[in-house]
Amino acid sequence: MSDPFLQFTQMLERSQWWERARLEALQRKALQRILIHAWQQAPAYRERLAPLFAAGDQPDLSGWNDIPVLTRKVAQARTEDFYARQVPDQAGESFEQQTSGSTGMPLRHRTSALQRVASQAAAARCLDWYKVDPNKSCAHFSATVPGASDLPDGTMQREWQRGSPEGIGYWLDHKLTDSAQKLAWLRRNPTNYLGASPNTALGIVLEAQNTQSEPPRYEALMLGGEMLTPHTETILRACLSKKLINNYGSEECGRMAVCCPEYKNFHLHEEFCLIEVLDGENSAVEPGQTGRVVVTPFYNFAMPLIRYAIGDYATLSAESCSCGRSSRTLSKIMGRERHLFRFGNGTSFWPSLRIEEFQAIVPFQQWQIVQDREDHLNISLILPDTDILFDRTAFRIAICDAFRQQVDVDITLVRDIPRDSSGKFEEFKSTL
Ligand SMILES: [Zn+2]
Repeated sequence: MSDPFLQFTQMLERSQWWERARLEALQRKALQRILIHAWQQAPAYRERLAPLFAAGDQPDLSGWNDIPVLTRKVAQARTEDFYARQVPDQAGESFEQQTSGSTGMPLRHRTSALQRVASQAAAARCLDWYKVDPNKSCAHFSATVPGASDLPDGTMQREWQRGSPEGIGYWLDHKLTDSAQKLAWLRRNPTNYLGASPNTALGIVLEAQNTQSEPPRYEALMLGGEMLTPHTETILRACLSKKLINNYGSEECGRMAVCCPEYKNFHLHEEFCLIEVLDGENSAVEPGQTGRVVVTPFYNFAMPLIRYAIGDYATLSAESCSCGRSSRTLSKIMGRERHLFRFGNGTSFWPSLRIEEFQAIVPFQQWQIVQDREDHLNISLILPDTDILFDRTAFRIAICDAFRQQVDVDITLVRDIPRDSSGKFEEFKSTL
């Protein structure tokens, strides 16, 4: 059998330009295959997929909307019931992993080697879109690559992108190192490209500014793992690289989308997963509307995830992307439900504040806003100099205006803003 990576990459080259009907036919076929497998092999799906198999061994997709959405909580409570008893040879080895736990609910899960290959193929297409040469060198911050935690140097391996053996990759554990160590490591290992989460990259820029030095510049910066705010995007473009590649994916579902190289939309990797955006009643939202992201990956035969609510909210684009690629797109990815602020008068929204307006009151370098009660926000600010005096009342008023709420605001000056247990930084967070 030929190499599945090559098969996938050759297909992706063509399928991005296919008519919608052809792409949807490909999706249906892949969906039917994983549904039959889940139904036959994973005990949890005997009941959950019953609406599709009432008439026999072939799934009747007209019952799709009756399939319950799988929450992380259910997947966590009954993990082993979602594991397939037998996995087809073509799916390759199964790996057991745990998600990083940024939701506070780490999920133990299994992944098929084939799903990883699919993600590698999606990555290869995305590098091609952005004219990134995977035979050049790339530094990455990640905790999952063996050797990345060998401080202070991490690890070095060839072929950071599958299929490109000349590319030298460097990895360092982002959780075990602070921004000063990361910046020093980047200086010791000059590369063409950098892969990091938005806030790790931002931390490197701030560290360089604090030490009155220039951060290294890169031909491209590959981002993922956290939401990229407009403010961070502006800084990263100005200081690290003009070319930002913003990826969307998860450990258990693989790569799901990447920002279009020409427009602001996120193209879904529809060849590898079905992504639905659903409202509170689990119906598909209208184009242009926001809902929760529900994903069915096609190539995880070790632990099929059928209609899995990943925990993020996103807006489905109202129109197809003007670049001509046929995949559906998300116009905005809002992040997790815990980033949603809810107020006593029934309003709720994901904060997306114009940080410059607040920096005009006091020139802070980084901030975090935590809602701990319906009428109360805690704001942590990192200032370049803690002796700076500023008008706290004006700051509070600006916050209330931005949130369109009368809330109490506590402002604390801090030297560092702690990350969550998975090493992610959250600019806005609600603990309600
Ligand atoms: Zn596009």
